Amino acid sequence: MTPTEHPPTRHTRTYWLEHAWLGTHVEPGVVVEVTDGRITAVSRDAPAPPPGAEILRGLTLPGLANAHSHAFHRALRGTVQVGSGTFWTWREVMYSVADRLTPETYHALARAVYAEMALAGVTAVGEFHYLHHAPGGTPYADPNAMGEALVDAASEAGIRITLLDTAYLSSGFGQPPTTHQLRFSDGSADAWAERCSVLKDRDHARIGAAIHSVRAVPARQLATVAQWAQERRAPLHVHLSEQTAENDACREAHGCTPTRLLAEHGVLGPRTTGVHNTHLTDEDIALLGDTGTGTCMCPTTERDLADGIGPAAALQKAGSPLSLGSDSHAVIDLLEEARAMELNERLRTRTRGHWTAAALLRAASADGHAALGWDEAGTIEPGALADLTTIALDSVRTAGPVPRLGAETAVFAATAADVRHTIVGGRHVVRDGVHALVPDVPRALAAAVEALRS
Ligand SMILES: [Zn+2]
Repeated sequence: MTPTEHPPTRHTRTYWLEHAWLGTHVEPGVVVEVTDGRITAVSRDAPAPPPGAEILRGLTLPGLANAHSHAFHRALRGTVQVGSGTFWTWREVMYSVADRLTPETYHALARAVYAEMALAGVTAVGEFHYLHHAPGGTPYADPNAMGEALVDAASEAGIRITLLDTAYLSSGFGQPPTTHQLRFSDGSADAWAERCSVLKDRDHARIGAAIHSVRAVPARQLATVAQWAQERRAPLHVHLSEQTAENDACREAHGCTPTRLLAEHGVLGPRTTGVHNTHLTDEDIALLGDTGTGTCMCPTTERDLADGIGPAAALQKAGSPLSLGSDSHAVIDLLEEARAMELNERLRTRTRGHWTAAALLRAASADGHAALGWDEAGTIEPGALADLTTIALDSVRTAGPVPRLGAETAVFAATAADVRHTIVGGRHVVRDGVHALVPDVPRALAAAVEALRS
């Protein structure tokens, strides 16, 4: 170093965690040192905060990962609960919202939705993004204008994003896209790959890939998407067997299940995540487990859309790591997703105790981050990204002898409304329940949704 050069400024902070979830148990009085967005030291036995430390009262967890999101579905909340119907009738209403989005209106909506996620303790989101082009399928001047709008929105809301850029080429097996779906399609997997190769990782953003479903990408083009992800060691997500109709159509077209079709085209593997994995055969479960393919359950959406209950316990036992997502955002509450997975299994089997609170938190954090390509997040230990979520222990929902109960109170009693602090890369994005970057999140949500109706 010459005398005129200065060392780079290092931003160091100290946090005192009244209670911390350290992966296996709750520890009282933990000091976490953070430098340049990463945890550099974790020390226990600190009954009082050291001088100058930021105080996090409550139970601090590793930041939560929302592994499956379609930000624009948030505009449907509260509008699709009247009358009967199925996933397929819901989808028609969803398409009517998709038709109206522009890069500007989508940016405003996503910024507000990601701010809602930050308030719910989410520090990283996996955005399964297929709304690529203008209505009718004409590319914008920047063909990635919609994806860039989402990446910017996450930055402005203070959270990390993995943009899972989604190939969506057909409406069904051998069927061209419908009018609504034209804006989702690049025409071919090669054109999809060319467009998303332009997208670049940023500090807060990583680029991954997605196959919308076996309905939406012709079998002979699946390998192109898989190879694109493999070359970049990027996460690859796919909606898998959410509906029995998809399984029936796949058997008719290809004589096998969607899982088998994906396996035969090189889609499965440890960087791949099947989303939903609801209606599977025993062979499907073995295929997913043996290949280390992950499973993202979205229990609040699956129940909202009357999808059914997926075999999450069997999948995990077979070797498929579990993650969680709020998907259609009927609610945005990762704690609710976590307990719903366990409670669904209780209803299905009429027995209790399929997952411990520790296992559910692992799905909501470390394994969710890994599914999104943020392997260095999701734990409170040196070297990890300094992403933290603090749950209040003094609300009407959580008051009680929490330290003795471990994380059970957080997982089985707390809600998103109990999130007191959200810290992303050592930056306080939510402080005392208030978003530091988006001043009035409810108003931002209302305005963004209203703009799509007028
Ligand atoms: Zn989805």
